Amino acid sequence: MTEITTITCAFCKGKGKDPFEIMSKEATCQVCGGRGKVAVAKPYVKCAHCQGTGVSPYSRNVCTVCNGRGVVSVTDGKKVCPGCHGTGSAKESNLPCLTCGGKGVV
Ligand SMILES: [Zn+2]
Ligand SMILES: [Zn+2]
Ligand SMILES: [Zn+2]
Repeated sequence: MTEITTITCAFCKGKGKDPFEIMSKEATCQVCGGRGKVAVAKPYVKCAHCQGTGVSPYSRNVCTVCNGRGVVSVTDGKKVCPGCHGTGSAKESNLPCLTCGGKGVV
């Protein structure tokens, strides 16, 4: 059975507003829908690709690995990914590691 817990939205840091004000200053956060909190299945780890910020590195986009939540659920195993050594990013690019999908663990 999967246990779901609620955490503070990493993308907007719980404010519920778009942190980059791309649409407008009052735009709601697209990750949590303005609630400031998101549901995540346990167990989970900090997203290696975005370092838990919920923001894709070198951009202002929602991290595609954790969908902006800043954490990723780990259901099968928790070994450090041999492809990226836990960084979650592919070498020579800012794209998520193909081996672990950007989680940093496999
Ligand atoms: Zn949010
Ligand atoms: Zn992420
Ligand atoms: Zn990896």
